[in-house]
Amino acid sequence: MSLTERVVFRASIAVRSTLRRLGLTPTLVKIMNRSPDRKFNRGGWSIVPMQSLLPARIFYAFDAALGVATGGNCPNCGKKGNSNEVVRRKAAGLTSVRKCGACGVLYRPVGFRGGRALQAYYSFLFTRAGVATARDLARTPDELVKRMAGEGKDRSGLVAKVSPPPASICVFGCSWGYEMPPLTQAGYVAFGVELSSTRREFGQKQLGLPIYASFAEAKRVHPSVDVLLSSHVLEHIPALSATIREAHQALAPRFHVHLTPSVERFSEDPTLSSVIGREHPLGVTRVFWEKMARDLEMTLEFSEQQGEALAVLRPGRLA
Ligand SMILES: [Zn+2]
Repeated sequence: MSLTERVVFRASIAVRSTLRRLGLTPTLVKIMNRSPDRKFNRGGWSIVPMQSLLPARIFYAFDAALGVATGGNCPNCGKKGNSNEVVRRKAAGLTSVRKCGACGVLYRPVGFRGGRALQAYYSFLFTRAGVATARDLARTPDELVKRMAGEGKDRSGLVAKVSPPPASICVFGCSWGYEMPPLTQAGYVAFGVELSSTRREFGQKQLGLPIYASFAEAKRVHPSVDVLLSSHVLEHIPALSATIREAHQALAPRFHVHLTPSVERFSEDPTLSSVIGREHPLGVTRVFWEKMARDLEMTLEFSEQQGEALAVLRPGRLA
């Protein structure tokens, strides 16, 4: 072991024992083992350079603590926390997941419902936590098309079920745009909307993709769109209903296609416990979509497959 390794190892043990006293170790160790950043491995326990994880962990701790301090209300619709049923106890009740009796989402305590704090989190901390789709995997659009097909992230087949090419598609929460080249190659007109400045700029500059910072900015170029598509994005957005309404008003999509982690069996299936927590303040349920569809005067088709929930909204109310 080199001197540096030894120092890092010693320091991480001190940090780990402090965290254990604070009751935080199990989650941290789990994240460590999953992180692609891991540098050292000692007897099955991975040690990650702490600076890559701590800012994201501190943000989450603040967010959850602020959420608890303000009553654990529903981050989506604001319904009082104590009137919403606890569906899973976590961290001795501190970060328990509740089911909102009004809007239907599942949620953990959330302090930051939007604004600059969340923007900064997704721009600077989220990537470092080792959970964002890595940017350096493909440097050209052609390379990317192949890669996305291989990883099952080519969404053109999914979109074709509601609207065939050359329809226009807004990829909401498109990160650096990795889902866009496969859509373009399939004959669609695709553009993206992304909150994180760092990933948006990477897609714009490195890959020349049309990615906008907001729905309002996208609207100036695309006054309407055929499909609003999102995959594994909505569960990150605390004020979800308002965001979907904003997108709907700005871009007037004829169809919505949204993929989220499946949470219908969250309360009875312990293996789903981590689906709502640190990175996902919300669990997006079928009940949520039923209400949203009524709100937007659209028809819902909801299905689940291999841990994913698919919500498709089409024009017109159900008869
Ligand atoms: Zn609610």
